[in-house]
Amino acid sequence: MTTTGEERERGFDHTEIEPRWQRTWDEADVFRIADDETDPEYVLAMFPYTSGSLHMGHVRNYTITDAYARFERMRGESVLHPMGWDSFGLPAENAAEERDTNPQDWTMQCIDSMRDQLTEMGFGYDWDRELATCEPEYYQWNQWLFKQFREAGLVERQAAELNWCPSCETVLADEQVEGEAELCWRCDTPIEAREMDQWFFTITDYAEELLEALDDLDGWPNNVREMQRNWIGKQEGASVAFEIPGYGDVDIFTTRLDTIHGATFFSLAPGHPVAQEIAEDNDDVAEYIHEAEHADEDDLDVTSGVFTGEYAVNPATGEEIPVYVADYVLTDVGTGALYAVPAHDERDHEFAEAHDIDIVQVVEPTDDADADPEDIDVQDAAYPEDGVLVNSGEFDGLESAEARDRFVEEFDGEHRTEYNLRDWGISRQRYWGTPIPMIHCEDCGYVEVPDEDLPVELPEFVHTTGNPLDAAEEWKHVDCPDCGADAVRETDTMDTFVDSSWYFLRYTSPGMDEAPFDTERASDWMPVDQYVGGIEHAVMHLLYARFFTKVLDDLEMVDGVREPFTNLTNQGMVLGEDGNKMSKSLGNGVSPQRIIEEYGADTARLFIMEAAQPEKEFAWSPEGVQSAHSFLQNVYTLVSEYADGEASEARSASDNASSPERSSADHSSGQSPREDGETANAGDAGDIADYVAREIDATAANATAEFEDFRFNHALQAVRELVSLLRRYQDATDPDADTFERGLATAAKLLAPVAPHAAEEMWAELGHDDLIAAAEWPAAQAPADYETERRLVENTREDIRDIVDTVGIDDPATVTLAVAPEWKHRVLDLARDADGNVVGTVMQDEELREQGEAAADFAKELAGRAQSLDEQLPPERERAALERAAWLIEREFGADVVVQGPEEADPDLVGKAGPGRPAIDIEE
Ligand SMILES: [Zn+2]
Ligand SMILES: [Zn+2]
Repeated sequence: MTTTGEERERGFDHTEIEPRWQRTWDEADVFRIADDETDPEYVLAMFPYTSGSLHMGHVRNYTITDAYARFERMRGESVLHPMGWDSFGLPAENAAEERDTNPQDWTMQCIDSMRDQLTEMGFGYDWDRELATCEPEYYQWNQWLFKQFREAGLVERQAAELNWCPSCETVLADEQVEGEAELCWRCDTPIEAREMDQWFFTITDYAEELLEALDDLDGWPNNVREMQRNWIGKQEGASVAFEIPGYGDVDIFTTRLDTIHGATFFSLAPGHPVAQEIAEDNDDVAEYIHEAEHADEDDLDVTSGVFTGEYAVNPATGEEIPVYVADYVLTDVGTGALYAVPAHDERDHEFAEAHDIDIVQVVEPTDDADADPEDIDVQDAAYPEDGVLVNSGEFDGLESAEARDRFVEEFDGEHRTEYNLRDWGISRQRYWGTPIPMIHCEDCGYVEVPDEDLPVELPEFVHTTGNPLDAAEEWKHVDCPDCGADAVRETDTMDTFVDSSWYFLRYTSPGMDEAPFDTERASDWMPVDQYVGGIEHAVMHLLYARFFTKVLDDLEMVDGVREPFTNLTNQGMVLGEDGNKMSKSLGNGVSPQRIIEEYGADTARLFIMEAAQPEKEFAWSPEGVQSAHSFLQNVYTLVSEYADGEASEARSASDNASSPERSSADHSSGQSPREDGETANAGDAGDIADYVAREIDATAANATAEFEDFRFNHALQAVRELVSLLRRYQDATDPDADTFERGLATAAKLLAPVAPHAAEEMWAELGHDDLIAAAEWPAAQAPADYETERRLVENTREDIRDIVDTVGIDDPATVTLAVAPEWKHRVLDLARDADGNVVGTVMQDEELREQGEAAADFAKELAGRAQSLDEQLPPERERAALERAAWLIEREFGADVVVQGPEEADPDLVGKAGPGRPAIDIEE
């Protein structure tokens, strides 16, 4: 139980209002977007994997996009905010096995319950555009696109290492290999590595563009761009050949050709063809390769390796250097062979020490380098920096960069650029994915499934130890589309990252059945303006989606859209109350369902958005949840009390009652400072209303800017301050109805993106019969000189506090504020432009000379604090600003406040005033 009896009476009941508004939005089609809209704001969350239920990470992710989508909609934008299901993948197969059902039924059940949860959270999606990747209407286009890519030369068969269970005689997905011992998930047999041909997308054809274009993605976080750069891993270098007598020339790739004279050994990766060839006649090498193939990649030992007994000829020196097979030479980076220079490479150094190989220095620091050549001892540690060549024969004295260029010619090499990026293997040996639309015929080889036979639909799920499609005998055997002979379907399915590489395009025309999407509309609606999702997708999904978009542009399926996502936000994690990642084993998880039931969706949304900026992590906090809950109830109460008061006023007016009573007296706090009625100069109702009006405008402007910047917590803080001000306003005086109502309406609107149900309820209470979700965002223009005025008021209040504290005034009766005379403002203006000689400049001014000593003194004072020559309000505006804010001072200090102009105030007091710094006199 969380609502007190009193709250239930005054506040709202989330269990009643939330479903009601959800139905109302749905009936009013608030979140639908028509196909003929032009260039809408496209706001998208990474679609969820259909795991069964939403977790807090989802809730945070979708609250961010929903709040932003609602904000843009209220600003008058047409908004595309769709939702769908990433619904293929092995977990569904596992769940189906556990529950003795099939992946299809299990997945559909998950989708239904997750859709309900999203609705309960109040997320506003255009459900007409919903898609699920496991439906043939969607995945047929994966198959069709696969064929398009293939025709464009972007699909290849390449060898890849797979997990093979010798007992089940089947290929296993990585997820089906269990534990450190790498056992088959079904029969616990240790798996073996088997090289087999697989289907690949040649994403490496786009490596350079994928890399280059990152520079212009300035709406993306830098860390994600950096992760993609590293993943693509461009290296500019050169290749040269070393001859291994008896085995021919072996190509190496290096970025440090300048060090070639220091090569003291040569290394081959275990998978290198020459290593394999040597192994045929060398048992030690054969054994080493066998062990290396079964070693765990995670605990790679850089010193592990075996001498082959062979030697390679260094083309620079003609010397022979020993050849090793070593695990640290990765087969899939560069050429799988390298010459090793222990003096200038850390890994080579470690290996050389372990195998007692010579270390020869060939580079030393240049004269202007930080390091002193005398301090460098390469026997001790590698010196990996560029420098000047030594021990390099006729090339001594060359700088590294120059040498690298020169040596390419000298040693018959060539300039080469290498990437770490590999082609994208999309074959998966599992059931719950898109069947690859290929048929294998003994005579014709691989033949595409003709378009008219698409989609290749999945057969019924087969419970089997291996790949279910391989066991689907009836499905598997078909006639060859080319020659009609008996042929067999490809039984692998596609990596589910294929599904998510273009789903954002499908949302633009989800029902389309003659193409994956409508080219014209996708070209207009793309790219996604705001994409929000987890950092775990920094590389694969986000890189594949970029690759697909570029290919589709090249295939003229989208027009001029080369990047899918203009702005990207990676939301931070929601941690458990204990500050740890939420997990079952720690028991620190918080279920969204429970929070919705207990506090309502609005509370969860508000708490999450107030807790931190989207990209920061934060810990769940019951106090924070409680605070969000009370705040919503409080604002609602403020609104409904006002609405009740208005209603009764309207009633009494129509009854010709003589003195309309306001309800404000009922709840003004006991510490009301205004006991003696009118005060001459301060607290005028019109002044207070003006003050509040300016704060309303400033809050709207501020919150708008913060929403635009995705700093929702700052926007919400501003709303909380506005609500608190409205409460104080009501306590201080009988509020001006127009101003007060405008304040409440503004607060409700600014809350609407984050706490949409409560905001609708407030909006209705205020007498509107339209929806706040479709209402106009408050005009966002901060009042003129707002910041200057705010600084003036804050400084003045701070000064009063200082005086009260320092002098020890217990009960101030009157605070007099005297505004500085016009001429001091003039001194300030001159001082600002004086360029050093403040006093001289000021005393040249005839008018100011009339002020005599005082002007000179003030000029000196200003000259002494050059940093605080900020522009200030002119005297009459300064006075007006202080009068507007006087009520706040009265409330804070329980004193009357008198604001005086320079003519009416005591000359001694005025003498102490400066522009932006009124003189203060406090009487007890
Ligand atoms: Zn097995
Ligand atoms: Zn054939």
